[in-house]
Amino acid sequence: MSAATLDLHQMGVAELGAALHARQTSATEVAQHLLARAHAHSGLGAYLALNEAATLAQAAAADARLSAGERGPLLGVPLAHKDVFVTRDFPTTAGSKMLQGYRSPFDATVVQRLAAAGAVSLGKLNCDEFAMGSGNDQSAYGPAHNPWDRTRVPGGSSGGSAVAVAARLAPAATGTDTGGSIRQPASFCGVTGIKPTYGRCSRYGLVAYASSLDQAGPMARSAHDCALLLSAMAGPDVERDSTSLEQPPEDYSRYLAQPWPGASASRPLQGLRIGLPREFFGPGCASDVLQAVRAALSELERLGATLLDIDLPRTELAIPAYYIIAPAEASSNLSRYDGVRYGHRAAQPSDLLDLYQRSRSEAFGPEVQRRILLGTYVLSHGYYDAYYIKAQQIRRLIAQDFQTAFGQCDLIAGPVAPSVAWAIGAKTADPLAAYLADIYTLPASLAGLPGMSVPAGFGADPLPVGLQLIGNYLSEARLLQVAHQLQLVSDWHTRTPPPFTPCPGSHS
Ligand code: GLN
Repeated sequence: MSAATLDLHQMGVAELGAALHARQTSATEVAQHLLARAHAHSGLGAYLALNEAATLAQAAAADARLSAGERGPLLGVPLAHKDVFVTRDFPTTAGSKMLQGYRSPFDATVVQRLAAAGAVSLGKLNCDEFAMGSGNDQSAYGPAHNPWDRTRVPGGSSGGSAVAVAARLAPAATGTDTGGSIRQPASFCGVTGIKPTYGRCSRYGLVAYASSLDQAGPMARSAHDCALLLSAMAGPDVERDSTSLEQPPEDYSRYLAQPWPGASASRPLQGLRIGLPREFFGPGCASDVLQAVRAALSELERLGATLLDIDLPRTELAIPAYYIIAPAEASSNLSRYDGVRYGHRAAQPSDLLDLYQRSRSEAFGPEVQRRILLGTYVLSHGYYDAYYIKAQQIRRLIAQDFQTAFGQCDLIAGPVAPSVAWAIGAKTADPLAAYLADIYTLPASLAGLPGMSVPAGFGADPLPVGLQLIGNYLSEARLLQVAHQLQLVSDWHTRTPPPFTPCPGSHS
């Protein structure tokens, strides 16, 4: 097939890698094509920054490596980064006015590793301000739109990442997940995303939200593509991030084509025990979501998996615990934006206090200010024991509940979110309603466990629904294996939002 007949934006990471190796196309051609698409679909609000010259220079470097005979699954493959990873080639805003125009002198470790593998960066993607939000409606640069229905949120905070992948603006993107921000937008936009075990990917160069929870991960069209990205992104970086795990780098695609240990090729998931937490399947979850999740679970059953009911009794407590711990850490992390060192500085301050107050009041949005207030309060003398310490105790109990559950099952499955994507603006005025919608993603975050969202069909309207898979620590390769087996027998992950479906002869 010649380059002229390849539908470049319809190709995923693995496919593009193969086409680049076969020299059917070039990194430069693919990058040019996707940059043109980014411009054509700028109304989706996916990108916050492009830098064509930098992208094309990276593509030319990848083409030179390919010409020299170098090979690698990501060599020449384009992707885009959530705007919380600092980058030298693009500005980094974290979706905040506070960092408008900020240019980092270095690349985040994750960015650096993907670049070293030859991936070409297309630009920076929209997100909720400092990754605080569930709808990408808290970005200082305007909302991103769900390509399945532009009046709906794409989820958040990695909303731009999910939109870019779903609308075929990029074959893959990076995201971060503190309390669900990879899994929930992946679910809302019908893409595949994985939040690894806490510490798998370095947080160096990741604009900090809640440091004991923040974790980077890939978002792409399939588990296979996520595995290729994660293999490059993850790995120890202890000198620059003391919480980075000292686990050797892994090939996360190593189990994809294999049956579950002891299973046969005809029933590849025989022996796999999937626990279904009763608390995830209660009346709090919309029936259209449950229906789609159950249909995906039936597919897994057909592949040989056994489903069993389990309990995660402290699920409800994950919301108050998270919304104490995350704002507490955020209030501390965000104290660095003082108008003195970097970030927005108020004009003509009358004294130092005025400089602090006005710089922060002018440049932090309402949700960020709310969380700073909340976090400062729960850490203050007199409330520290009552709220913060209590929340940490609950966090420990939630982690223990998971370990009890993993005594009975190999992985846990359920919905990602209690509903499909809501209308833009529907929860903006009611922060509590948005917090409550995080109920199924927060427990794994508090425990530091890996979790995925895998497309599982459609709910009402029809909007995508994700199946959440949660594994024990360091079980990413197994999660990806199960997701891949599901994707071999289902086509939910290949569906494209109607305006972006391939039409014969069209390459735009
Ligand atoms: N919705 C959650 C919050 O607002 C999670 C965000 C995230 O994972 N970054 O904190």
